Amino acid sequence: MFKKKLIVLSSPSGGGKSTLANHLMTLYPEIRFSVSCTTRKIREGEVHGKDYFFLSKEEFEEKIANGEFAEYEQIFGNYYGTLKSEIKKHINSGNSILFDVDVKGAVSLRRNFPEDTLLIFIYPPSLDELQRRLEKRRTESEEELNTRLERAKEELTYKDKFDYAILNDDLKIAFDDLEKVIKSNLS
Ligand code: ADP
Ligand code: 5GP
Repeated sequence: MFKKKLIVLSSPSGGGKSTLANHLMTLYPEIRFSVSCTTRKIREGEVHGKDYFFLSKEEFEEKIANGEFAEYEQIFGNYYGTLKSEIKKHINSGNSILFDVDVKGAVSLRRNFPEDTLLIFIYPPSLDELQRRLEKRRTESEEELNTRLERAKEELTYKDKFDYAILNDDLKIAFDDLEKVIKSNLS
C-alpha cells in the first residue's frame, strides 16, 4: 500500500511525535508501531511492550552484544534502540512500520534501508513553545527537562536531512500536513 514501508517520525523531545504517530495509526490501522527498547524509567500510563520494551542496562547491553539492534543510541543518559526482529516481524506480515526515533536513529535507519525509508521531521514553532509543552506534559524533572531542551537545539539542525519537515504549531494543520505527506507515499 505504501511505496516506502518504513515511516520515520523524528523531532526534539516534546515536538509532537507521539501525538502525530497516534493520529496516523488511527487513520491507517495497517501501519504498525515499531516498539523500541529503552533503559529509561517507565512513565505513568506507559505499557511495557506497547510504548517500549523497558529493559535494564544489562539486558540492553546483552542485546547490543548479540547484534539484535538495527540501530541504537544513548540519549539523556539512557539507551534507546530498534530491534531488527521488530522490523522483520511487521515487514514479513506485509505491514508498514512507524518509527518514533531521535534524529540520529532516523539517519541510521535510512542508511540501513535506503530504498524503503520515508523520513519526516516534526518541529515546534519555537524553543520557548517546546519548553511550555514539555512543562505542561510534566513527565520529566526540571533537570531532565533542561537536558531535553539543550539537546533540542542540536536536533533542530538535522531538519534538512529529512525528506519532509512539518511544523507542529496548530495541531490540526500539522495533522493535515502529515496526512498529505503520507498520501504522497501511497502506491
Ligand atoms: P514527543 O512524542 O515528540 O515527545 P508529544 O507528542 O508527547 O511529543 O508532545 C509533547 C506535549 O505537547 C504533549 O503533552 C502534547 O499533548 C503536546 N502537544 C503536541 N502537539 C501540540 C500542539 N500542536 N499544540 C499544543 N500542544 C501540543
Ligand atoms: P522519550 O524518553 O521521550 O520517550 O524519548 C526520547 C527520545 O528517544 C525521543 O527523541 C525518541 O524519538 C527517541 N527514541 C525512542 N526510541 C528510539 C529508538 O529506538 N532509537 C533511537 N535512536 N531513538 C529512539
